[in-house]
Order: sequence, then C-alpha cells, then structure tokens
Amino acid sequence: MDEHIYPREAELHQAIDDEVAPGVAYPAELVEVREKAKAEGLWNLFLPDDEYGAGLNNWQYAFLCEEMGRSPLVAPMAFNSAAPDTGNMEILLEHGSDDQKARYLQPLVDGDIRSCFSMTEPETAGSDPTGLAATARLDGGEWVINGHKWFTSGAVGADFAIAMVNTEESDNPYANASMIIVPVDAPGFNLVRSVSVMGHDKGPGHCEILYEDCRVPEENLLGHRGAGFLIAQDRLGPGRIHHCMRAIGTAERALEMMCLRAADREAFGGPLADKQFVQDFIAKSRMEIDQARLLSLNAAWLMDTVGKRAARQQISMIKVVAANMVMDVLDRALQVHGSLGMSDDTPLAAMWRYSRMLKLADGPDEVHKMVIARREVGRFLKKRAATEEKAA
Ligand SMILES: Cc1cc2nc3c(=O)[nH]c(=O)nc-3n(C[C@H](O)[C@H](O)[C@H](O)COP(=O)(O)OP(=O)(O)OC[C@H]3O[C@@H](n4cnc5c(N)ncnc54)[C@H](O)[C@@H]3O)c2cc1C
Repeated sequence: MDEHIYPREAELHQAIDDEVAPGVAYPAELVEVREKAKAEGLWNLFLPDDEYGAGLNNWQYAFLCEEMGRSPLVAPMAFNSAAPDTGNMEILLEHGSDDQKARYLQPLVDGDIRSCFSMTEPETAGSDPTGLAATARLDGGEWVINGHKWFTSGAVGADFAIAMVNTEESDNPYANASMIIVPVDAPGFNLVRSVSVMGHDKGPGHCEILYEDCRVPEENLLGHRGAGFLIAQDRLGPGRIHHCMRAIGTAERALEMMCLRAADREAFGGPLADKQFVQDFIAKSRMEIDQARLLSLNAAWLMDTVGKRAARQQISMIKVVAANMVMDVLDRALQVHGSLGMSDDTPLAAMWRYSRMLKLADGPDEVHKMVIARREVGRFLKKRAATEEKAA
C-alpha cells in the first residue's frame, strides 16, 4: 500500500474512470500494479479456498481487507479482491459446474476479466427480491431472459453478468428465482447506460441493463433451478462482511487524515486539534471505529467457527453498524478539512460517495434492523416457551 497504492492513488483512480470501457476491464497502469501484487501472492485474498484463493479464513482476511479499505476505490481492484467479482467468484466456486469453473471462474481468479451481478430492478423493490419481475424461460435448449435491471455495478468492461431472474412459478416465493450466467455479448443483453451516481458515471459504473429476449445456453444456469435465493445468501454473507471490513479501513484512514489536519490547521489562536468540538469528533471516531472492528471480527470468527448461517445475526448487525460508522467518521473528517474536504483534492469526497452505498447495497439498514429485531424477539419467545415447558 505504501509503495504502490498511496503514491499513485489519484492517478490510478483517474485511469479507472477514464479507461475502463466495454472490452477494457482494467486500465494499463492498474494492470501493472496488479501484476506486481499477483507476483507477490497478494491475490484473491478473500477466497478461503486453497486452490483458487489465498486460503485465508474470514478472520484472517479481515485485517487485509481493512488495509485495502483505506483506499476503497483502488486497492481492492489492485489485489483482485474487489466486489462484485469477489461474490461472483465465491458462488461460482461453491455452485458452478466444472465447465462454468473453467470458463468463468478461472479467468476471474487469474484476473483476466471482470464480472457483475444483476439483481436489482428499477420497477420492483430491491429490498424484497421475492417481487423480482425479470424472467427466464427455456426454449430449444436456451434460456430466454427478459427483464429490466439497474445498479448492476461494474457492468462496463465486464465479460459476464450473473443475473437473478424468475424461472419457476411455485407458491413459494423463495423458490422461484434462479441465477444465470449471461455473457455481455449474448444477443439481447443491452447495456443502456451507466447511471449517474451523485454526479459520477465513469469507470465500471452502476449500470442499467435491458435483457430483451436475451438468449444463453441452458447450461449457464448456476446451481439448480429455483436456487437463486439460497445462492444469494451464500453470496451476501461474506460479501457483507467484506464491505464492513473495508469500511473500517476507510474510516481509519479518514480519522488519520482528520487528526493530521486538525494538528496542522490553526484558527482562533491555536490548532484545531485543541478545540473541544474537534476533540469530540476525534474521540468519538476512535471509539466507534474500534467498536465496529471488534463486532466485525466477532462476526468473522463466528462465520469461521460455526458457519455463515449461524452468524447471520452478527453479519446483519455489523452491516448496519459499519455502514453508519463510516459515514459519521467521514463526515467529521470532511468537516475538519473545511472546503478542502468537499474538494476532490483529497480522497475524502470520493470515499464519502462510495461509502454511502453501504446503507443500501446488500440490504438497506432498515431491512437488516427488521430481521435483527425479529430474531431477538424469536429468541426470547423460544426461551420463555422452554421455561414454561420445563415448569409444566
Ligand atoms: C452504489 C450501489 C451499488 C449497487 N450495486 C448493486 C449490484 O451490483 N447489483 C445489484 O443487483 N444491486 C446493486 N445495488 C442495489 C441495492 O442492492 C439496492 O439499492 C437495495 O437492495 C435496495 O433496493 P431498492 O434500491 O430497490 O430500494 P427499495 O427496495 O425501493 O427500498 C427503499 C427504501 O425503503 C426502505 N425499506 C425497505 N424495506 C423496508 C422495511 N421492511 N422496513 C422499513 N423500511 C424499509 C429502506 O429505507 C430502503 O432504503 C446497488 C446500490 C447502490 C446504491
């Protein structure tokens, strides 16, 4: 990070914005850095599998993920550990056929291509994907996909999308969706636009995609028919915690910048660092970051020791805590930098724009809080029922 990322961070970020285009997954300058990272084995650090990845568990990866999160728009890509490729590699590894692994997983693992994940739709509520409208029907050995998606992050320059679409019509809304691998050159895959997000539409983008009678071979189904929700859960568990660990790194860097700026900037007869309001910003940030880190490490440890399903509550909890913590810390850092903080002369503004998505992506805060509360109520009801049964 010190040698290859921070000194060139702004330049690499600009190159990603300027050069990523259909058919261009990474800008040349970044490819150079990526080759160095790969040569040093700093590659696919998120993937616990020994054969395809670095073989680290979630807890071990947490510390590296935090380091990468200090430069969230550049470093994860430099180490081939950026979303949404990370989640796609995980589900291809877990659910892909041998052919899918050879054709789609291996080039992602090697860093030759990028991919995207296409679930959210403009016309239906992404927070409740049982309402998805996109469909795929089998016709002559091919899936014919129709649907309207948006916020398919990274579609510009990607080789393929994994699309979540309805293939079944059962009474169980959680058993109707499937995941299908769609190469971006499949007939009927139309990248409409990169949606402008807070004034930014460059680079890999957050894209609107129209699937119009889009045809892919039947064997592009990932896992089995109707397994979309199960696979989505597998994807989102580690993905959520990776976002949180990166957010902690982002906040840690913002705090460092806030402290240094406060120490150097003089106003009203002394450095900002001596003003109590600013000290409150710094102290609160320190405490909140450390709380979030411990919660995040606890969730990672539970995932490693009792499994992703059993750690669901802790994953939801850290998802909400980290998303809010990073925004609060960034906001304070920005404030202490004054107008400089809002400029693009420091990475703070870009980190703020990037991090804001965390309160929405992979489930909005409100939905996570809803399930956290439901599980807590359920837990205490179960406990009471057990006590009453014992007494009877
Ligand atoms: C930068 C960014 C990148 C993204 N990348 C991807 C991607 O790569 N692929 C992809 O498929 N999607 C992606 N998304 C989409 C993201 O997953 C969705 O925005 C999210 O699931 C919410 O869906 P929605 O936007 O349709 O909001 P809606 O479902 O319309 O929800 C809007 C709001 O309603 C409120 N709400 C919803 N349910 C409840 C409830 N039960 N109780 C109280 N309030 C509630 C919440 O405040 C929520 O934010 C991305 C989003 C962003 C912002």
